[in-house]
Amino acid sequence: MQQRNRAAYMISPKKIEMRELPMPTAKPGEVILKVEYVGVCGSDVHFFETGVRKGKPFPLPFILGHECAGTVTEVGDGVKSIKVGERVCFEPQITCGKCVYCRSGHYNMCPDVVFPSTPPYDGMLRDYVAIPAENAYKLPDEVSTKEGALIEPLAVGLSAAEKGEVTVGKTVVILGAGCIGLVTMMACKAMGASRVIMSDLYPKRLANALRLGADVVINAAEEDAIQRVMELTGGEGADVVFEVASNPVTAAQTVDMVRRCGIVVMVGNINEKTPYRFMDLMYREGQIRTIYRYCNNFNTALQAVASGRIDIKGIISHEFDFSNVQDAFDESMNNRQNVIKAVIKL
Ligand SMILES: [Zn+2]
Ligand SMILES: [Zn+2]
Repeated sequence: MQQRNRAAYMISPKKIEMRELPMPTAKPGEVILKVEYVGVCGSDVHFFETGVRKGKPFPLPFILGHECAGTVTEVGDGVKSIKVGERVCFEPQITCGKCVYCRSGHYNMCPDVVFPSTPPYDGMLRDYVAIPAENAYKLPDEVSTKEGALIEPLAVGLSAAEKGEVTVGKTVVILGAGCIGLVTMMACKAMGASRVIMSDLYPKRLANALRLGADVVINAAEEDAIQRVMELTGGEGADVVFEVASNPVTAAQTVDMVRRCGIVVMVGNINEKTPYRFMDLMYREGQIRTIYRYCNNFNTALQAVASGRIDIKGIISHEFDFSNVQDAFDESMNNRQNVIKAVIKL
């Protein structure tokens, strides 16, 4: 049987074309992944829409997609951890393994990281691709391949919740109820938070937040979110506040929502300057922390899904066939309020 290797190439902003690539072969230490599901990430949609990364146009054509899972079809020399036929998900941070950050366990800080789907590194929207075996995580039987493709965004939510030191009994505020806000909420609940309060401007998103496990939602278009958080916390503020909306306004509000000795975690990507009243944070001896992607938590994410603690497939709102990849991106770009997560089946 002749194998085809279809690839979805972004050829210009907002335009994707199907092409064919030669079949890859596994070098030592690599495996060949038959990609079966790819989730569309917010960063993919940004690149698709603008053709720009960090203010500069990136070289085209280009392959998007980094949230993926599939089946291993070939293993290279020296690979012992994975066998042909096993289902795996892919951690898209390919790092040097030698620098001070890699060696101290902070490999998300590796200056030489290759992150497929971040230009100039082609992503995963293709049938077959060679990946390092160490970036492939075996899926437990309880985790479907489709769910496997969502381990990557879940790792972001877990990373945020870990940074916020969320534990049993904590009250948490999450500003922004898009996909990353929702996975952060799921992670906080799984880690024991007793109350997760989510705020957003769109009723549809808030309805999703409630359906997926948020305890209280605030429509910030209609009510004063700060006042509401204070009412809900007896005037104290929340133990942990997550900024996920990527907005200078919500970022500035975090100081008014966090309790004394509380923690603010910046999750959203905010490029604009943000006015912040640091003195008010100091009066509370509050802390601001940031996250960059995630590190060392794919197995945690897999176990959380396998055990049923996190029902990650709940975030899938749209599914597309590989031949309709253009539609998947158009819909994700044009219908942001309703698309939580689009998944493409190859
Ligand atoms: Zn992603
Ligand atoms: Zn490194």
